[in-house]
Amino acid sequence: MYNYQLVYQVKPKKLSEMGFDSQSFVLIAGPCAVENEEDMKLYARFLLEHQIKYMRAGAFKPRTSPHTFQGLGYEALEILKRVKAETGIKIVTEITDYHDFPKYREFVDILQIGARNMQNFPLLKAVGKTDHPVILKRGFGNTVEEWLGAAEHILMEGNPNVILCERGIRTFETSTRNTLDLSSVALLKQLTKLPVIVDPSHATGRNDLIIPLSLASAACGADGIIVEIHTYPERAKSDAIQALTLEDASHLLQKIDTILPAIQKIRK
Ligand code: PEP
Ligand code: MN
Repeated sequence: MYNYQLVYQVKPKKLSEMGFDSQSFVLIAGPCAVENEEDMKLYARFLLEHQIKYMRAGAFKPRTSPHTFQGLGYEALEILKRVKAETGIKIVTEITDYHDFPKYREFVDILQIGARNMQNFPLLKAVGKTDHPVILKRGFGNTVEEWLGAAEHILMEGNPNVILCERGIRTFETSTRNTLDLSSVALLKQLTKLPVIVDPSHATGRNDLIIPLSLASAACGADGIIVEIHTYPERAKSDAIQALTLEDASHLLQKIDTILPAIQKIRK
């Protein structure tokens, strides 16, 4: 019997005010990376029209190969700041270096710690000293216990606003990019009071599997999903084949809306 005990069993108020409560399902969507300002405005408007309040997009992309697109960096942060000011969309973006926090502080609504940085303890401690909501993605080679330990590094510094994100782990299976471990979601809902969201995009690496796994995530107790979208997925500068077209993203939302009343009933 697995019985890791998270020491800091807090129920963060800030997150429940943001919709992370047992009855709602939070949607976060956007491209893998900020590629240009025009597209970011288009995505923001699309999401707001579909009642999605949070847009994800990376400025700094920790990629496996240094020869691939690494993100627009600080220029991307400036683009996100302007898009937020113009449209009102809330911003979710990855922080890779804690020295950069002052550049994120005033306009980033949710900080993301990427899978590759899940055990970057100086970064965890630094975001723990803020009260910014933090999405802590599971490392693709990390156990639930290691993931909770990482979360606790943030919580212990005083920041209760931690959102756990299952994004797939590495297994022997190669037909999907990673293996989505939905057991971890159901388990974490028992072990902690922290919200747990699922990233089916990085978990599968295939846009044709996003809809079924998003629905499965909602059914097994996830508090939300974070999904990649792109106007022309095949042209995306990073993570191309896993992005949903805007049309498919609309289908996903319709399907979530259909199953949500049943899921809310189950959760009562
Ligand atoms: C991302 O969200 O674009 C990303 C790089 O995710 P992960 O850290 O889970 O690989
Ligand atoms: Mn990505």
